[in-house]
Amino acid sequence: MAKLKYALAGGTILVLAIVAAVFNPTANVWLFRQASLQAAGWKDTELAKPNELSLLVCGSGSPLPDPTRAGPCALVAAGDRYFLIDAGLGSMRNLRMWRVPLEKIEGVFITHFHSDHIAELGEVRLQTWISGRKSHLPVYGPTGIQQVVDGFENAYALDTSYRTAHHGEALLSPDVAPLLAVEIGETGSEAVLPQGGGLRVKPILVEHHPVDPAFGFRFNFMDRSVTISGDTARSDHLAEAAKNTDILLHEALSPELVGMLEKATEVSNRPRVAKVMSDIPDYHTSPVAAAEIANEANARLLVLTHLVPVLPNGIAERAFFYGVSDIRDDVHLARDGDLFVMPEGTDTIRHRELD
Ligand SMILES: [Zn+2]
Ligand SMILES: [Zn+2]
Repeated sequence: MAKLKYALAGGTILVLAIVAAVFNPTANVWLFRQASLQAAGWKDTELAKPNELSLLVCGSGSPLPDPTRAGPCALVAAGDRYFLIDAGLGSMRNLRMWRVPLEKIEGVFITHFHSDHIAELGEVRLQTWISGRKSHLPVYGPTGIQQVVDGFENAYALDTSYRTAHHGEALLSPDVAPLLAVEIGETGSEAVLPQGGGLRVKPILVEHHPVDPAFGFRFNFMDRSVTISGDTARSDHLAEAAKNTDILLHEALSPELVGMLEKATEVSNRPRVAKVMSDIPDYHTSPVAAAEIANEANARLLVLTHLVPVLPNGIAERAFFYGVSDIRDDVHLARDGDLFVMPEGTDTIRHRELD
């Protein structure tokens, strides 16, 4: 009994000592130093080996505010060559948190100029530059890309000058900082896109009126492929262009759930929100239609992204999927950090989550 008493007293003293240490500033500084030493030793995240094609979802959200999803963004890694498709709000923060080597991004593809897809173009410019990008960063997009790039160049010019002045030209040369607009035109010119070394990129004209033109993109790398829809209403042209693709990353909006939000906002006397809710379904694709498109295309895996409305829990997610299982079984709801890896010469799609 006495032994037990002493043991309990000893345990209490130990707990108190730990608590005191945790709240002691000197101990906290020491702990921070140890943590810094460990954190500074981080390694870059490898997205693909030389014979692999990978898709990383860097933003699975939409313009609607969502605490768990950045705005639209995908990163395609063809071996060591990285390409970014759209630059939604919060996507660069995701990539940095996941320790993706941003200097490897050799091109950015903009599907169309809705603000949710271009919001972080300035940050893409800045963060790839700071990470050690060695030359101008091409930004491929529809007619109008020059105007968009000029705007970001203008907005970030002062920031560039401050950083070069502060850190020196050897570290941050202003010569390599700029974005370089590359127009793919009204119908999509494959010739201006990066090709070769087993890589082939094809633009796909999609339907997002009044946003004309709007594009999706298909990346073929060796014998594997990923097709990205961009924003589109149901498009048979996309189904054709995505034929036999390994992964179809398709946008999705549930007209039923958005219709409920429209009614709810009407009842709550929010006519502006109700009007937007009534307008948006006609230029997006329902989850059921996306599943049909994936079947038409004979896509190996369908990943739904650009999710509207916001799906805060499992109940909303299951409601979003209503009717999809009647069409197709293997449908994946994208989350930020989803990484799909496709080795050459196989049918395999490996999946893991970055955090
Ligand atoms: Zn759009
Ligand atoms: Zn969008």
